[in-house]
Amino acid sequence: MRHYIGALDRCAAPGDDTAMRAVDIIRKKRDGHALDAAEIAAFIDGATSGSWPDYQLSALLMAIWLRGMNPEEIVALTGVMTRSGRVLNHDEIPGPKADKHSTGGVGDSTSLVLVPLAVACGVVVPMMSGRGLGHTGGTLDKLEAIPGFRTGLSIDEMKAALREVGAAMIGQTADIAPADRKLYALRDVTGTVESLPLIAASIMSKKLAEGIGSLVLDVKFGDGAFLKDINESRQLARTMVDIGKAHGVRTQALLTAMDNPLGFAVGNSLEVIECHETLKGRGPEDLTELSVELAAWMVHLAGVAANLEDARGRVTKVLKSGEALERWRRIVEWQGGDPRCLDECRRLPLAPKRLPVKAERGGYITAIAAEAIGLAAMRLGAGRSRPEDAVDHGVGILFRIVVGERVKVGDTIAEVYGRDDGEMQEVADTVRTACKIGDAEPGPKKLIRETLP
Ligand code: URA
Repeated sequence: MRHYIGALDRCAAPGDDTAMRAVDIIRKKRDGHALDAAEIAAFIDGATSGSWPDYQLSALLMAIWLRGMNPEEIVALTGVMTRSGRVLNHDEIPGPKADKHSTGGVGDSTSLVLVPLAVACGVVVPMMSGRGLGHTGGTLDKLEAIPGFRTGLSIDEMKAALREVGAAMIGQTADIAPADRKLYALRDVTGTVESLPLIAASIMSKKLAEGIGSLVLDVKFGDGAFLKDINESRQLARTMVDIGKAHGVRTQALLTAMDNPLGFAVGNSLEVIECHETLKGRGPEDLTELSVELAAWMVHLAGVAANLEDARGRVTKVLKSGEALERWRRIVEWQGGDPRCLDECRRLPLAPKRLPVKAERGGYITAIAAEAIGLAAMRLGAGRSRPEDAVDHGVGILFRIVVGERVKVGDTIAEVYGRDDGEMQEVADTVRTACKIGDAEPGPKKLIRETLP
């Protein structure tokens, strides 16, 4: 009889794990206790299999948002989220596998520059990226501005690309970290996106599934970043570095300023053109500096160079020699893109109309408010406010000045690329307001503020 009642107790009610009831796990976190590995596994299994209903998943997400998680919980959460789907392994392909992840910014196109830099130095890069959302851009949108470029490679095609050209730049496949896809959709509509443990586990679960041995994180702070405050960014960076290490991936984070857009271009085709100029050694200083430094860390962590200084030297050499540019040509071609657009920018889709933005007073450019610029580019159609929105690769904003430069009244500070006169005029007004002009020359600000650990 006892035996029979025990079996009934273990019989699952809807939404409960057989051995562990969802409601007990929710209560435990609600009351501020740490969850053990089995409880975290039950939660993620419930999300992946659909055995936990959305209301219980959402309740636990909110409890985590309110109560947080300790480092052991975060490491365990990331591990089970990673294993909720396919975990890639590229051991059969020669060479060290490394990737970079950026927490997102405005005009941040470093991936298109650093991938060929790192590959030309002997690193293999299986990069899975996302699309732009809100004021921040996404690597997939930039790649897809290149006519013919296919970001939807299968895993077999990805492996063939890694073997033949050393890199594959693709979108998240449905079988990578499916628990994250489910949970992110719920977080988006339950006010639980802004939680450090959930953000760190979400980002790292997807990166750990890529089959890499090392990872460089570009964690941004400032006006155009997802996290504005450097202290919060530092905490996120530390958490992600610890997760990477706990899972055997050499991980390094750079804290970088995102107060002003990176480079001159904001908008997909415009950024691709800027990346090509950068690979030809004619790019903006900030984009070049950051791309070289991130690539150098990739090369260093991958064990290709003797030390970081040596890695910087190797990366600079392949940039100057044109090897990285030629490598990019092969990557673009392998993925179906038109390699002629590296030399002929007219082959990239560009909006037909241009509207200059003129300075209304003289002085020094003291700041370019990055978030306002990202939102203005989104308004033109360069980005999306909802994940299902389409983007217009041809529109955007091209700056003619950098912070610290002196301008006179009537100088062109930027050009708006668009299709609709009214919309372009509104964006031009936003750009004018976002470019702050003052009498005092602003002091230099470091782009790469800290490296962790
Ligand atoms: N990017 C992600 O992939 N996940 C988050 O939770 C936040 C940003």
